[in-house]
Amino acid sequence: MLQSVSNFTTSLFLLRSTFAQLFISFLLINSIFAQTQEAYNNVEQINLKKQQCLNENQRANLKKRLKKNKNHLLNEGFLKIKNNSIVILDWPLQMISNQQFKSYYTISNYVDHNPNVGSASFNQFGSTNLDYDCGNRTYDTNGGYNHQGIDISLWPFEWYQYENSIVEVVAAAAGTIIGIDDGNVDNNCSCSGNWNAVYIAHADGSEAWYGHLKKNALTSKTVGQTVAKGEYLGIVASSGCSTGPHLHFELYDAMDNLIDPFSGACNSLNTSSWWSNQQAYRVSTLNALLTHSAVPVQGCSNTEVPSFANCFNPGQTIYTAFYYRDQLSGDVTNMRLRDPNNNVWNSWTHTSPGTYSGSWWYWSWNLPSSGPYGTWTLEADYKGTTSTYEFSYSNNLCSCPLSYSYSNGNHLTGTVSSNANYETFGMIESDQKITNGNSVIYDSGTKICLDNGFEIELGAIFEIKIDGCGGQ
Ligand SMILES: [Zn+2]
Repeated sequence: MLQSVSNFTTSLFLLRSTFAQLFISFLLINSIFAQTQEAYNNVEQINLKKQQCLNENQRANLKKRLKKNKNHLLNEGFLKIKNNSIVILDWPLQMISNQQFKSYYTISNYVDHNPNVGSASFNQFGSTNLDYDCGNRTYDTNGGYNHQGIDISLWPFEWYQYENSIVEVVAAAAGTIIGIDDGNVDNNCSCSGNWNAVYIAHADGSEAWYGHLKKNALTSKTVGQTVAKGEYLGIVASSGCSTGPHLHFELYDAMDNLIDPFSGACNSLNTSSWWSNQQAYRVSTLNALLTHSAVPVQGCSNTEVPSFANCFNPGQTIYTAFYYRDQLSGDVTNMRLRDPNNNVWNSWTHTSPGTYSGSWWYWSWNLPSSGPYGTWTLEADYKGTTSTYEFSYSNNLCSCPLSYSYSNGNHLTGTVSSNANYETFGMIESDQKITNGNSVIYDSGTKICLDNGFEIELGAIFEIKIDGCGGQ
């Protein structure tokens, strides 16, 4: 890290040598004291999902119930099994449109193919763990359980994604609903109670389980009804035994044998892949590049503080952050900040010191107090792809910094009795009352919903801006 900071300082001199000495000194101080990185580099600490997704009793009871339902549906003619059919799975998640994330997930655990279990109550990424690719990205427990599904974790800002219902669970294959669990608490950070889930039988008699879903947000269809491939089933959440929002996806063939949909040298369950397009074991992706008004805090449902901001005034520190899935040791990213004239104001390079399922890095900056003002662009070249993120730098008082409060998410309630600005990275929902003489700006990344109860009194001013400060 020291190396990269000193390189960075050198490049500043080269880039800024024509500027006044005072300015250079400022940047130097900035680079030493404020230009921070690597506060938190290994998100596996967050995305471990260190809980048995479903305990043995729950699984046994569930299997009994699903078998009964399935037999009943077969007898009634609602479920027809064609022996020769082959099930091909598409990806079971999709992000809703107009989000600032480039991608939204990483895989934290695969199926454990090593029948041995470790001595600790929970053993992850150890010698008794073996995934389909002969790695150890899975877990077991000393109670005899080997992980039987795939844990697909939301990343980054899993709680923000959960709160705003950004990731939908969709049917990986067409089929008939054979079971539904709903009504259970869905924001757990540790093991608690039962999950919300949808269970689907496919045409060949195989089954897919979709677990940990959001409460009261499941498909309106019921047991016995059919779903098409890609049809909405629910929202990724953290119900049941779960430490954070993720989908537990578990599969059985028609003979009730556990299946791992990924084919690989160490898959002991089945030889061929069940995916229509099996993704690689590691998919190195820059899931997001964002700007923040403070160092973002990843955490539990009530402690995650994203501090999203996309509009800044002079004197405000800008935190630029980069969020990766499967960043590999030695991976190089070239990053840049461009001013509104498309000139590179600064550029720097990051080399990953390790391999992570999820990782993030940040640098902080103070832009020149004299501008240029307008739309700045954060850029990153990673694995042959250039990603960009735009933000505003303005010397008039636009609504900066963007505020985010987890306690009410992006749902704004209550009476506004003074001028107020609200900005959000995603969507705002409001049932506020804006009182006479006051003016409120809602500035949202994607959409603004005025709920029942929203009121604006005669003489109040109400302004809506979508996508960043300044009504871009
Ligand atoms: Zn799981």
